[in-house]
Formats: sequence, structure tokens, C-alpha cells
Amino acid sequence: MIPVQGYDGLRVAVLGLGRSGLATAAALRAGGAEALCWDDSPEARAKAEALGFTCHDLTRADAWADVAALIVSPGIPHLYPTPNKLIARAMNEGVPVDNDIGLFFRSWAQADWDNFEQTPRIVAVTGSNGKSTTTALIHHILLAAGRPSQMAGNIGRGVLDIDPAVEGEVVVLELSSYQTDLARSLTPDVAVFTNLSPDHLDRHGGMGGYFAAKRRLFVEGGPDRAVIGIDEPEGVFLANQMAMGRADDRVIRISAAKKLGDFGWSVFARKGFLAEWRKGRQVASIDLRGIQGLPGAHNHQNACAAYAACRTLGVPPREIEAAFHTFAGLPHRSQTIAEKAGVRYVNDSKATNVDSAAKALQAFGNIRWIAGGLGKEGGIAGLLPHLFSVKKAYLIGHSARDFALELGDLPHEICTTMADAVARAQAEAEAGDTVLLAPAAASFDQYPNFEKRGEHFAELVAALPG
Ligand code: ADP
Repeated sequence: MIPVQGYDGLRVAVLGLGRSGLATAAALRAGGAEALCWDDSPEARAKAEALGFTCHDLTRADAWADVAALIVSPGIPHLYPTPNKLIARAMNEGVPVDNDIGLFFRSWAQADWDNFEQTPRIVAVTGSNGKSTTTALIHHILLAAGRPSQMAGNIGRGVLDIDPAVEGEVVVLELSSYQTDLARSLTPDVAVFTNLSPDHLDRHGGMGGYFAAKRRLFVEGGPDRAVIGIDEPEGVFLANQMAMGRADDRVIRISAAKKLGDFGWSVFARKGFLAEWRKGRQVASIDLRGIQGLPGAHNHQNACAAYAACRTLGVPPREIEAAFHTFAGLPHRSQTIAEKAGVRYVNDSKATNVDSAAKALQAFGNIRWIAGGLGKEGGIAGLLPHLFSVKKAYLIGHSARDFALELGDLPHEICTTMADAVARAQAEAEAGDTVLLAPAAASFDQYPNFEKRGEHFAELVAALPG
């Protein structure tokens, strides 16, 4: 645990008592603060009290008098679509609002680092898609290279739950836009921006607010190195804004779409090869084709981002290449789960938005596509140019009929449930086909989360005759 610094002897309110809220309360207590816990749900409060935390009714008129800060969980909206009433109240009372990420950054450095030859560092990864994969890949490469590393944030442990740093350690954080939007302190040593496409727009008041939330990771803390995907205009803008000029090698531009030679430092993937360029010269290249854990151009983008981050930490190209080959990939992300009767089954349940589904659809051929769920704003119009490898779509969930209308002439069938979709796809598949679950929709109409949806798909596939 990382005891929270700066609130010794003070009262700090904690709103939201899920995993991160409870870890925050514990870390505040360890730092000498009094944690005033609250959650709208009586069950969550009961659970917190059973674990020894003190609940404090923040809805009372006199609740805020001597509260030094309010720490909120990422699921609770602070501005859009409408501010949570308690957060609005705190802001009106002038109480600083923060989250566990902000507390972590202000509490991370320790007095005993004076004795370290190599100061611990933080790599923070944000972007619309590929955050988890990139974060896990950086962590994997560091461990494979014999460097101490911990992984936390949206993946792995809660940030305040990690162990205090050892000499030379690198903490790799995955940060969502909700987290970067609110954190009052954001000071990574290396910041990574994978890409940007519309997602969570209701929570950010539109695309501008969404980008602004991610941009904070770069402009608030001033990282020593910024690794920035420039395959969208926002990335180009951010890289341009962070760099003094094209030769400035504090910014490493990455692309999975185009050659980038003319900058101080760049890493790109083309035709399955990753290339690193510095000061106008190629310095390393890696063949990414056939790396099992990183299929498709979208994963080549993640590979470029992870490669660049690890290069800033001094890991040699050959060690990174070796680690790429031992990376197993993450569950529910373009994950091949079975091969039966010559048909490959791929679970990309995490493809909850149009962009991630488009990437999965481009990574495979002869696709029998299982899609649908709780559709997102804007429908699937953005997917239509990427359906060239789809032989047929098997539509499930709430959005099945809407998706069917948008698909027009593309062969499709409304299956409603995952079980029907898997059975129909298997019955019609021929050797060489790929049955791909890439829903382009959230799971909440039929499942508690995308993991459960992917697990159900995997169970159904496991039960098919092989
Ligand atoms: P995040 O943590 O940002 O949601 P993940 O690594 O969990 O990212 O991947 C989320 C989804 O996006 C998965 O469906 C995955 O296959 C897809 N994906 C992964 N990397 C990328 C990328 N670089 N660009 C677009 N889609 C991606």
C-alpha cells in the first residue's frame, strides 16, 4: 500500500466504496487521515463497515464543514451528463475534488529514495483503445528484461494498493479518461497516448471534452518523454504541441499507418514490420508477423507504443523483440480461443465500440461475425467500410435489429442470444473461416460486463464438437 501523504490529521471524504474507494480509504488512514466513507448504496456501506471503515453521511447539511478533500470513484460523474449531487455540493462548498490517481501521484515518492541510484519511474498509458494491451505489454517486457515493475490503475492492482517502490522500479499505469479528467496531480515520467476515437462522450460533454481529459496527462505534469500515436488529428495536434520542433526527441511519434522518418524519434509499423528511427536514421526493426499474442494492425500500434516506452527506459531492441514473442495477449482482446474443424474462434468481447470492432474485423479473414449488445451513440455506420472480410453477421442483444438495418445487403441473421449465434455460426462455417465475437456494443443488456460475455462465448465454443 502507498500511504497517502499530505492529509495527516485531516478529514477526507471518500465517495464510492467499490474496490478503489476502499483501497483509497485504507491508504488515507495509513497516512494519518480520517476517511469519511460514503456510498449511495446501503449494501456498499454495510460492506465497508464490516471491513472496519467508518461511514459518514455526506448528504447531511453540516457534513462538509471541515472536510479537506473529496475523493471520488471513477464511475461517478462529476460534470456530465449531470454532476453527482454530492460532488456538486463539495465543489460549491470549495472542497477540492480529487481521485485515487491524484492521491497516488502526490504520495508516491518516498524519503528513502535518497539512497537509490536509480529513481523509480512511472509510465502512464491513456488512449481510446489498446490501453490495457499496451500497459500489460510494457510490464511484460520490463519483467522479461529483468527490471522490477508493477502494473496498476485500470488493470492489475488499484494504484494505492501497490507496494512501495524498490530501486529502479517502473510502475506501469493504465489510466482512463475518467481518471485523467479529475486527478489533481498527474506527473508520470513517461506518458503514452495510443489513439483517439469516440467513446464515453456522455461523460465528457462530447469529443472535445473527451480529448481534453486525455490531454491532461501530457500538459498538466510535463512528462520527460511523451509517446504519442499520430494516426488521428488529435494525436498529431498533441505531438505538435508537446514538441519544440520536429527534432525534439522528448516526443516519440508512433504510427501503425505510415512511415515516420523525419522526426527526432519515431516508431512505426508498416506491412508487419516495426521500425525505430532516430534523427533521420533507422536504428532497429522487428518482424511482427506471426507474433501470436499481437495479431492485426491495431496490435502493431500497441507494439509500437510499448516498444517506444521501453526504449525510453533503456531496454535494448532485441530484448523487446524476444518479449513480444512470449506475450500471451490479454483475454477478450482478439484472443484465439479454439480451432475446431479448421475454424478459428476469436474472442474480442472487449470490442465495445466501433473503432475497436473495426480493428478486429481488419485483423482476420473469412469472418463469421457475432455482433450486437447495447449499441452506442452513432450506431455502426463507422464499421461499414471495414466489413470486406465478413461472410455473414450473427446479431445478438438489444441492438440486433438496428444493426441489421445498418448492414443492408451484407448477409446477416438475427440470433438474439449468444448461444444461437455460436450454434448458427458453427453450423455455417467452413474450414478456413474465423468466428469472431467483436460486438461493437456494450454488454450490459445481457451480461454484467464484457468479461462475462466473453467467458460465455468461450464456454459455448468449448462445448462445440471438435
Ligand atoms: P483499452 O484498455 O483501451 O480498452 P484494450 O487493450 O483492452 O484497450 O483493447 C480494447 C479493445 O480494442 C479490444 O477489442 C482490442 O482488440 C481493441 N484494440 C486493442 N488495441 C487497439 C488499438 N491500438 N486500436 C484499436 N483497437 C484496439
